Amino acid sequence: MASDQIVDQVQSLNDIVEVISAYVPLRRAGRSFKATCPFHQEKTPSFMVNPDKQIFHCFGCGVGGDVFSFLMKYERMTFPEALKRLAERVHVPVPEFKHSSPEERSQTERLYQVYSAANEFYRRNLKDLELGKPARAYLAKRSFGESEMDIFHLGFAIPEWSHLYEFLSKKGFGEQELLRSGLIVRSAQARTYDLFRGRVMFPIFNSQGKVIAFGGRVFGDETPKYLNSPETPIFRKRKELYALHLAKRAIPTTGEARRILIVEGYLDCIRLHANGFQNAVATLGTSLTPEHVQMLKRYADEATVIFDGDKAGEQASLRGLDLFLEEGMGVRVLCLPKGFDPDDMVRVKGKEAMAELIGQSQDFFDFKLQVLLGRYNKSDSLGLLKITSEFLDTFSKIKSPVLVDRYLRKLAVTLGVQENSLRSELNKLRAKLSGLKSARSEPRPLAAELRKAEPPLEKLLLGLVLHYPPYLRMFQEVFPEYSFSGEKTREIFNLCHQMIQEYGERELSPSKLLNRIKNEESKTFACRLLMIEWSSGTDREQAFQDVLRGLRGQERAGRLKTLRHQIVQAEEAGNQELVLKYMKTYQELLSKSDSH
Ligand SMILES: [Zn+2]
Repeated sequence: MASDQIVDQVQSLNDIVEVISAYVPLRRAGRSFKATCPFHQEKTPSFMVNPDKQIFHCFGCGVGGDVFSFLMKYERMTFPEALKRLAERVHVPVPEFKHSSPEERSQTERLYQVYSAANEFYRRNLKDLELGKPARAYLAKRSFGESEMDIFHLGFAIPEWSHLYEFLSKKGFGEQELLRSGLIVRSAQARTYDLFRGRVMFPIFNSQGKVIAFGGRVFGDETPKYLNSPETPIFRKRKELYALHLAKRAIPTTGEARRILIVEGYLDCIRLHANGFQNAVATLGTSLTPEHVQMLKRYADEATVIFDGDKAGEQASLRGLDLFLEEGMGVRVLCLPKGFDPDDMVRVKGKEAMAELIGQSQDFFDFKLQVLLGRYNKSDSLGLLKITSEFLDTFSKIKSPVLVDRYLRKLAVTLGVQENSLRSELNKLRAKLSGLKSARSEPRPLAAELRKAEPPLEKLLLGLVLHYPPYLRMFQEVFPEYSFSGEKTREIFNLCHQMIQEYGERELSPSKLLNRIKNEESKTFACRLLMIEWSSGTDREQAFQDVLRGLRGQERAGRLKTLRHQIVQAEEAGNQELVLKYMKTYQELLSKSDSH
């Protein structure tokens, strides 16, 4: 991983105002800049960029962070991607990840080049008036037009043995790298030839928009109907989704409509895009994997999985659906009528009919229930047991307790069993699972969720420390043993403490601090505190004194409460001596609080 120094350096060279204004027009407003927020819909600007602190924050939707967070959110990049982009912008070399040697890196780079050149070549074939004729006729027959060909970079591999091979060789690619790409293969007789011949070509792009593989389809009924290029260092089937590079741009970054459609075939996916469903992606001949779902989660909150009419209800599809719930993503299911795939549906019945079907898609729970009721008989006890155990298995993986509650109630009603008995079965199952797995993956209980709320006084204190680090020392002098009850507050406060030891309290800047916070949620939290403004040093000092007084008051209230409890206990035990002792302390504490 990149060292903290490099992160600090890249950050200090990239002025947040310059970077953001390349995406969003900023207007000066006092010491800050403002704009209408790119992350939510609004008419009056509440998106602020602060050049002093090098942070941004939206008072409307609450997003915020530093220059890295902005790129991560706007361009939907990971932290390493954002770091790389910003480093390039200011010409700072960033050391690559250690596990790839320079040689491996250049091999990967060459693979991308082979695929990109092949893509251009296949596209040219398709557009060629003579060569491309049969493929264009096929696409026209399936009613795909020019714009689909362009948007999806469709191409054509003509039915010859070494058309691509000769082209790429002339371009200067060596035989070894061509064989490594899988687009050129070698027979047992050591003859070298093209993998794809006489097929319409569908390039597969990664989410960054680089060609990493191809799917090829024959025109007629020859087999195999579809052929995919093999897995390579740049292409892993279980990680990639067709058209994700397009779909991710179609899904809004915030709000209600963060939904993605998942279909099975390229043609289905292209047909949906061409008819206004630009949020569609396709799996590449595999069932959904955890890697797919983790990636989708970056762009969408809910997925609608569309099954062809004759495929629904397979065991494999149910497994795929559970994955979404495990990752905390909503999932709905649409089973098309018998004999229809999404392509047929849109072509034959029209896009309105498709939109209506998507609107009527089933909640995951109803779908699973329907499948299981079809498979087992709920009126015999063995069938009932099968159904409940399959559901409890799923519930044990759902992270949201609210959702589990709702589903449990529904299941009890449908099966005509006691909700309590289902719940106790579920608890048993969870206990068993958490015994098997580490505590890491255990669902978070509701109480812990509530405890996450950060107490206001602690928050304000942290805000003051972020603005003026010497407050940290001053606070610790008054409260040497203080233990924070807010999780994020504690985390960031400890980090400040640690960094002051390292840099000294005069040298700790907000951006250095933000660079060390790895968790985006905590970073947003810190930025929100950094957006607080005090009109003068005196005002700020006043606020600090208020916080100290408030915390002292809280501490005193806590001690008084404990003492009242101790007095009652001593009375019950009949220990008069102890009662008097506690009473005296109580009185002392009370009179002290008056003088303050
Ligand atoms: Zn906003």
